[in-house]
Amino acid sequence: MSDTIYTEEASLPDPRAKDWDLPDRTDALIVGGGLTGLSTALFLSRAGRKVTLVDKGALGDGASGRNGGQLHPGHRQDQVWLTERLGEPLADTLWELGEQAVALVHQLRAELNEDCGFQPGLIEAAHTVRAFDASRHYADHLAERYGVETEILSREALAATIGSTRYVGGVRDATGGHLNPLALVEALAHAAHEAGAVLHPFVRAVHHSRRSGRIAVTLAGPGGDEHEIEADNVILAGNGYLAGLEPRVENRIMPLVNHIAATNPLPKALIPGGEAVSDTRHVVRYFRQDSEGRMIFGGGESFGRPPADVAAFVRPYLLEVYPDLADEPIAAAWSGTLGITRTRCPYIRRLDPGLYAAGGYSGQGVGLATFAGKVISDAIVGDTGTLDVFSHLPVPPFPGGRAFMSPLAALAMAWFAISDRLDLSRRGGEAAGTSAP
Ligand SMILES: Cc1cc2nc3c(=O)[nH]c(=O)nc-3n(C[C@H](O)[C@H](O)[C@H](O)COP(=O)(O)OP(=O)(O)OC[C@H]3O[C@@H](n4cnc5c(N)ncnc54)[C@H](O)[C@@H]3O)c2cc1C
Repeated sequence: MSDTIYTEEASLPDPRAKDWDLPDRTDALIVGGGLTGLSTALFLSRAGRKVTLVDKGALGDGASGRNGGQLHPGHRQDQVWLTERLGEPLADTLWELGEQAVALVHQLRAELNEDCGFQPGLIEAAHTVRAFDASRHYADHLAERYGVETEILSREALAATIGSTRYVGGVRDATGGHLNPLALVEALAHAAHEAGAVLHPFVRAVHHSRRSGRIAVTLAGPGGDEHEIEADNVILAGNGYLAGLEPRVENRIMPLVNHIAATNPLPKALIPGGEAVSDTRHVVRYFRQDSEGRMIFGGGESFGRPPADVAAFVRPYLLEVYPDLADEPIAAAWSGTLGITRTRCPYIRRLDPGLYAAGGYSGQGVGLATFAGKVISDAIVGDTGTLDVFSHLPVPPFPGGRAFMSPLAALAMAWFAISDRLDLSRRGGEAAGTSAP
């Protein structure tokens, strides 16, 4: 791991298996060592299963260790859309599961004795009057239906709260917050290792096939040597990085590259209450000052290769919100790939007997990915209730599947940029609002 600021803070000992010493058989093979995979490994190991986890890179070096760290309650798709599509009972259950996801992160932080630099509070900043109206209506809906307490911030109040006059108003929500995501990854990796899971970074899963009731997976090691492992259960937790392994997943989860820049610790608290902020654009700007006072600012997205100079790419977005930081050097800048779905609903499924997939959190995975690991673990040990709920979420393939994602993503991004300028709503709809968080 190299380019994020989070590495400096990840001081836990490395729990990873060092050698190319993979078993021939395992109860569960997990493909992907991000929050989804590590959480699955933790809960399955605790349930007494023999767990082998592989990641083609370093653990947590996918989206999980490079994201904005914002912990949002609820789902990326809003409750109004979910209610219209799925009916009230299911939408209400999903809301409750979203709450459980946030609670699980807090429970793990407490249990694993890892505070992860958590700071409470989230603000949605509206970039237009119309977006502010929509945010307020949605806040009213959440208050009425789910008792969510929020605070409406006028233009002036918001400016004092986030140190920027760029927005027309906002909504503060005290239930979410933000944290160092790599610290959470490391805590989960540690705990999974201690619970008995064997974690193999730099091992890629290249192929899987069914063999007499089990699943055979071909793995490739760092030197290119191959090894075959048979598993009763295989969990595909590769999200936006999963390529060439399972078309049903890859046709539904589009990889999208997001970019973040971080300053050195600033002399002043621009956001004195310590909240994290995300705005109402389709191409979301999201930012926070961490416990050290560094401004961590996400802005802009792309498909395929990240820009050569990520700092230069993000800087205009940062200065649009904080023009006074024009002379502030960028201490670190990095990109990461998230997985989005057409409906922005996560894809958490049993694909075949013994074969599971989880991903497509559409920029809201800090809580949901951690939770998905528990959901899949529960299903494998016999409690399929929550997995069944997620299976009801509509997650259609992208038209033309993987082959057409590149032109489709380019078109979508152009459309989102235009929509932001035309002030079209971000709430609801298919594949609307792509970015993290
Ligand atoms: C820049 C950025 C900012 C974001 N900000 C936020 C935020 O503020 N709040 C929020 O909630 N969410 C945010 N997200 C989204 C969030 O990070 C993700 O939803 C979440 O981390 C997904 O976790 P995961 O474990 O499913 O996937 P990942 O963390 O991406 O892990 C997948 C892993 O699978 C491995 N892999 C893939 N294929 C294979 C294979 N064939 N063999 C072996 N290993 C394989 C990859 O190497 C990777 O390590 C952001 C994402 C990005 C990129």
